[in-house]
Amino acid sequence: MKVKAGVLEKPMVFGIKEMEIPEPGPDEILVKTKAVGICGSDVHYYVEGKIGPYVVNEPLILGHETAGEVAKVGKDVKHLKPGDRVALEPGVPSTCSDFVKKGLYNLCPSIKFFATPPVHGTFSEYFVHSANFAYKLPNHVSYEEGAMCEPLSVGIHAVRQANVTLGSTVLITGAGPIGLVNLLVAKAAGASTIIMVETYENRVKVATQIGATHTIQSFDREKIIAQVMEITNDKGVDVVIECSGAASAAQTAASCLANGGTMVFVGLFSQDQVPMDLNLIAQKELTFKGIFRYRNTYETAINLIASGHINVKPLITKRFPWEQVSDAMNCAHKEASSQIKVMTQW
Ligand SMILES: [Zn+2]
Repeated sequence: MKVKAGVLEKPMVFGIKEMEIPEPGPDEILVKTKAVGICGSDVHYYVEGKIGPYVVNEPLILGHETAGEVAKVGKDVKHLKPGDRVALEPGVPSTCSDFVKKGLYNLCPSIKFFATPPVHGTFSEYFVHSANFAYKLPNHVSYEEGAMCEPLSVGIHAVRQANVTLGSTVLITGAGPIGLVNLLVAKAAGASTIIMVETYENRVKVATQIGATHTIQSFDREKIIAQVMEITNDKGVDVVIECSGAASAAQTAASCLANGGTMVFVGLFSQDQVPMDLNLIAQKELTFKGIFRYRNTYETAINLIASGHINVKPLITKRFPWEQVSDAMNCAHKEASSQIKVMTQW
């Protein structure tokens, strides 16, 4: 069928175009789109036409933070029916590889992920997706909140990998959308001290609003370390969640870890090499972990929102009707320092 979609033609050329989408296969569903959030990665593709090895060579529908209404189901789909409200997990492995068998399906090289070339995303009136990666939303959870399950999933995966637990002390570098969802999840997991390091005024404000116990608005290494040590009675923090992608912030944060601490890398760095003090890792018995997207997070995300343990609404700072999807993209691009999450609605 033909649909109207937000298509990236080449860097900085993004607008609504008619596109052909397939019929759903036996285990797939056709979804009528209701809400799509704009992610930093969408903006990155929009501005540069690529992220690392992923290059947009032909017109690509952007968007991967999605909720919608089931319009049609394939013949083998049993758990969903037309009219169901769903959140869509964007990454679907296409074979049962060793990684899938081990439960690490996000690491399967066969994964097809919305809006990662050449796989189309969801800024589209309708799209087709695996039914197994569609999760029903309770009636009191809005489509916008359903779309927010995507960034929230990153926080859930990072916080799980960091083993944040009751009474943990946590330092989060960067209070953009991903730093802030990590804050929400760390709080829900029982962290008692959550320090956010961020330079933009507006983000610091939001971090405080949604539960940061401390904020440090500085770039200065010595100042940050001194403040963290003061807050933690010279112990350092149990956990660092690196969401800034800035080498200097990551290096400073590593020095803020307590003995036995864990650092999780969420943000991608623009440079290939980031110098780190490896002796520190041995001497303090630190654990460094990376995360790639997320796995097994969607039901948790929906339950956390539905139960009221997590409120993602304060992160949605601007809304656009979907016809203005290119304005929405420009807003996310140009107002990155003042907006948290820009949402498009159908
Ligand atoms: Zn995203």
